[in-house]
Amino acid sequence: MENAIEIRNLTKTFGDFTAVNHVSFNVKKGQVFGFLGPNGSGKTTVIRMILGLINPTSGSGSILGFDIAGDREKLRNSIGYMSQKFSLYEELTVEENLDFYGGVYCIPHNRMKEKKKEILKMADLSGREKMIVSNLSGGWKQRLALGCSIIHEPDILLLDEPTGGVDPIARRQFWDIIYNLSKMGVTILVTTHYMDEAEHCSSIGFLYYGNMLSMDTPNNMKENVIDGDIFEIKADEPLKSIELLKKKNWVKDASVYGAGIHAMTEKGEMPYDLEHYLVQNGVAVQSIRKVKPSLEDVFVFLVEKEKRKGVMN
Ligand code: ADP
Ligand code: MG
Repeated sequence: MENAIEIRNLTKTFGDFTAVNHVSFNVKKGQVFGFLGPNGSGKTTVIRMILGLINPTSGSGSILGFDIAGDREKLRNSIGYMSQKFSLYEELTVEENLDFYGGVYCIPHNRMKEKKKEILKMADLSGREKMIVSNLSGGWKQRLALGCSIIHEPDILLLDEPTGGVDPIARRQFWDIIYNLSKMGVTILVTTHYMDEAEHCSSIGFLYYGNMLSMDTPNNMKENVIDGDIFEIKADEPLKSIELLKKKNWVKDASVYGAGIHAMTEKGEMPYDLEHYLVQNGVAVQSIRKVKPSLEDVFVFLVEKEKRKGVMN
């Protein structure tokens, strides 16, 4: 399978601040690449470089074999982009927004009619053509914005936090559309904060303040990254328990996880040791069981490791 996106050592500095530090990744044709990382990690900056809106300080990238810094005109019609803020015209109707973007991409008039029908159906907006966009709910706006970004049938789709602030049902509906596009051969790069969305990507890259800490399929990440065990603990006093656990040198990390605690220990520690230690310190423990790491565990582990590295340097 060929790479549709190839990014090599991409770096961007603003003054003496490095926003993106030697980032490299490939995305194969038709795959969904999830780009994860806390706010300010450089995700949008990478996307802006791919779009040719800003020049890399160093490094390079190619989309469908064309250089991101050089062949802009050739790439213009191959890339669709949905920004964090959706870029819709709120005071225009659904149909007027589609017409506007159709005009931007010079879609012939006769083709536009069919295209609009297709997008309205995909976005579950049929019958709402005449609605003013500001009156649409978040999920509809989001699907309309996606529709506008693919009106020219791009091969590559860049989605920057497309599901922020949208309810879970609309998020699912949105992902169904993403999968369909990927099945049709569209290559997708999507940034997200949601772990359940990351799980559904073909591969993910975890960007942390400019540095790509890990990149792999979600399954490989869960199996290979953490060199320790994860225990799920249900106890009466979670915060006190976490504090206690963090004091133990064979506990690498402990944090709130759902209704309980996830403790990361060195391999070979027994649940009994954990329970005994907590009970000895006056915490009532309901249950302790070893669990498979989740992606969230993986990211917590990577961040802690990175912080320790920072302290040691
Ligand atoms: P993310 O999308 O992961 O939240 P961004 O790419 O928006 O992160 O930002 C990465 C870092 O680069 C942030 O610290 C941000 O303040 C900084 N940054 C982004 N654009 C500029 C700019 N034009 N000038 C200076 N700093 C910038
Ligand atoms: Mg961003």
